[in-house]
Amino acid sequence: MRKRNYSLVFFLCLQVCWLNMLPVDAQNRNSNRTAEEGASARTGPAARPQFMFAIHGGAGAIERSKMTPALEKEYRAKLTEALEAGYRILNNNGSALDAVEAALRIMEDSPLFNAGKGAVFTSAGTNELDASIMDGRTLMAGSVAGLKHIKNPISLARMVMEKSPHVMMAGDGAETFAKQQGVALVPQSYFYTERRWKEWRAKVEEERSKPPKKTSRLVAPLMADEDQHGTVGAVALDKAGNLAAGTSTGGITNKKFGRIGDSPIIGAGTYANNQTCAVSATGDGEFFIRSVVAHDISALVGYKGMSVKDAADAVLDKVKQLGGTGGVIVLDHEGHVAMSFNTAGMYRGFIGPDGKAVIEIYRD
Ligand code: ASP
Repeated sequence: MRKRNYSLVFFLCLQVCWLNMLPVDAQNRNSNRTAEEGASARTGPAARPQFMFAIHGGAGAIERSKMTPALEKEYRAKLTEALEAGYRILNNNGSALDAVEAALRIMEDSPLFNAGKGAVFTSAGTNELDASIMDGRTLMAGSVAGLKHIKNPISLARMVMEKSPHVMMAGDGAETFAKQQGVALVPQSYFYTERRWKEWRAKVEEERSKPPKKTSRLVAPLMADEDQHGTVGAVALDKAGNLAAGTSTGGITNKKFGRIGDSPIIGAGTYANNQTCAVSATGDGEFFIRSVVAHDISALVGYKGMSVKDAADAVLDKVKQLGGTGGVIVLDHEGHVAMSFNTAGMYRGFIGPDGKAVIEIYRD
C-alpha cells in the first residue's frame, strides 16, 4: 500500500517538473498580449509581471466612421500620457493607488473625457461629478458624488478614504470636507466646454421633439448608446502585489439634477481586492448598479476561480440581458488584464514593465 503511494507521488512530481520545463508560450498560447484578449491570458505564476496598469476612457458608439484622424490622435495622445504617468509611478516602486490617482487626474483635466473638465451637463445645465477609489490591500474605499466645484474628484475620493472615517460623501458636505482639506474649489464655469454644451442642447431638443418611449424602466436604457462615453477609470497592480481601482465621471448627458450613477458606488462601478481583482466600469449606471457589476466580477474570480476575461464577459452579459450597455477593465493579482465591452467601442489601454503603451478604441 505504502509502495503504491510512493509511486503515485513520484509520478506527480515528474508531471509537475515536465510542465515547469515548458516555455511560457506552450503553457499559455495566448501570451501574445493584445489589449482585447491577450492581456487577459493566464500566463501562470512564473510569468507574473512585476506590475501592470490599465485605463479606460468610456464606452459607447465609438466608431471609426464617426472619428476624425485629428480627434483620434488627441485621444491616443491623452490615453498614452495617462498610461505613462501610471507606468512611471509603478516602475519606481510607487503604489497602485498613486498610479490610479495620477492617471485619472490627467484624464479629468482633459476636455476629451466625461470627467472633471469635460463633464457632461445635467438637465439643469449644471455639471455634477462622481468618483471613487478602492485599495485592494486594505479594502478601504473612498467615494464622492454630486460635486459641483471640485476639479479632481478622484483626489477628493481618496481623501475621503484616507482622511475621514467614511466611505462616501456627497454634495455640499463633500465640498465642505474638501475645503477643510485645503482643496481649492473651482466655479461651475470651469466645466464649460462647447462640445458638451452642444451635446446637451441637442439632447434636450431631441427629447422635446420625440418624448421617450414608454417602455418598462427595468429594460429601457436611460440613454442612447452614442451619449455614453467619456467616463474614466484605472486599475493597477504594483510591485508589492497590491491592487487598486478608481473611476471618475460627469455621469450622463441631461441626467436629472441629483442623479448618481454607478461610478461612485463601491461594488458597482469600482472594486478592488488583492485576493481577486481590481475593476472599473463604464456604461448605463442604473444597470451597473442593479447588477453590482464590479463586485460580481470579483466574486466570480474569487469563488469560481474564473479568469478576469470570462468573469467580465459573464457579468456584462447579465447587464445586457437587463438592457444595459457599457464596458469594464479588470486586472487580477497575477497581472492579467481584461477589457470587455458590449458597445461599438471603448477607449482603453494598458502598459506593463516593458513600458510600451497599448491603446485601442474600436472593437476590431
Ligand atoms: N457609468 C456612468 C454613469 O452612469 C456613465 C458612463 O460610464 O458613461 O454615471
